[in-house]
Amino acid sequence: MRSRPEPGARCRLVLRDARVPRALVEEPEAFGGRAEHDCLRGDLLIEEGRVRRLLARGAPVDAAAERDLGGRVVLPRLAEPHCHLDKCHTVSRLGPVGGDLHRAIEDQQADRARWTREDLRERAGRGLAELRASGCGAVRTHVDWDAEHVPQGSAPLAWEIIGELAAEASPPVTVQRCALLSLPDFDDRSYVSAAARLLASGDGALGVFVLGQADMPARLRRVIELAERHSLALDFHVDESLGQGPEGLEAIARALVETGFEGPVLCGHACALMNLEGERLARVIELIARSGVSIVALPATNLYLQGRGEGTPQRRGITRVRELRDAGVRVAFGSDNVADAFCPVGRLDPMHALELAVLTAHLDPPFAPWLRAVSTDARRALGLDAQPVDRCRSADLLVAGAFHSADVVRGAARQSLEEYLSGSGGDARPAAGYREPFRNGES
Ligand SMILES: [Zn+2]
Repeated sequence: MRSRPEPGARCRLVLRDARVPRALVEEPEAFGGRAEHDCLRGDLLIEEGRVRRLLARGAPVDAAAERDLGGRVVLPRLAEPHCHLDKCHTVSRLGPVGGDLHRAIEDQQADRARWTREDLRERAGRGLAELRASGCGAVRTHVDWDAEHVPQGSAPLAWEIIGELAAEASPPVTVQRCALLSLPDFDDRSYVSAAARLLASGDGALGVFVLGQADMPARLRRVIELAERHSLALDFHVDESLGQGPEGLEAIARALVETGFEGPVLCGHACALMNLEGERLARVIELIARSGVSIVALPATNLYLQGRGEGTPQRRGITRVRELRDAGVRVAFGSDNVADAFCPVGRLDPMHALELAVLTAHLDPPFAPWLRAVSTDARRALGLDAQPVDRCRSADLLVAGAFHSADVVRGAARQSLEEYLSGSGGDARPAAGYREPFRNGES
């Protein structure tokens, strides 16, 4: 970085020629820069560690330091709204796996005996490192909370280990742990009350697996009452099936509307919405919108497990992403399972989930609005502040080796701004031979 002492500069840094996806700016009119496709382009002014605005390119600035980004895209750190750090990286020892959701649950269950302190630290630590390398500043991981094996008033070992890993992370990353219980567990009020007290003491979220169980409305009421009493965020694995439903999602949305629970509530999967069409679909989506829930689509695991039959699948495992967003429902994308019985491949990288969703759900460019689903909207879905670029600390910025939002989505290298400026930890420069289409043409 070129540095020169400037007594009056007040720690100003100028990043010359930056592109910022317009949809990731809270107040684009006030932010400055020139509109170019779905981005704003200009010189990014950072003062005292905070983003201030985009200046016209080449504007004279009294700055302590400056760096030319050459038109690269700047975005806020990503958020991973749904993953399973307790299960990840087990596939290599599972033997032959493959089948539907129920088979995956059985196969994964058989692996539990190996979940020692060392094993969990190694696998969850690797998963968390992968999320941080992908540019995540916030992560929600589910942790299996199997009432049969976790005594009342205690937490699973994975809960503790992931808590330790989160506390050790440097630079820091926000890790939300979400207990994954099953709906029938809420019949034992003293058990779930003890669990809720434990979650509340550690900033945990309350997660519930909802798929085809009996007495949904009454049991969901108990879930919501408990969350209300302990001020817990709710997170459902719901209607993870193309074969039945979507009675779970509908019951959750109705219960939320009736109770007025203010959330945050995040519903994952919801593949069963694919079973509805026309007016019936419109009515359910309107109810979902009214309930205020956010939906996280999880394409990798759903593509692998759903629509299984004898041969090649005919249906796609994904929820009604486009219809939900058109109705004003907040949509996010998450990595879900990676290298385990539920998905033997995958990546702990929400941008990869977005790329899969582009193909699976036919999301079309411009992609800047969809980038919200792995950053600002994903954070809102987790109950965090949105962190748009114009409200960001410089420590929360990423630089991508991309000159267009489509290149960001297809996996251009991402580095934190700090790594980029110091030239360490990867390379946000585009691959050799990459020709920047607008670099000389429109400036
Ligand atoms: Zn999941």
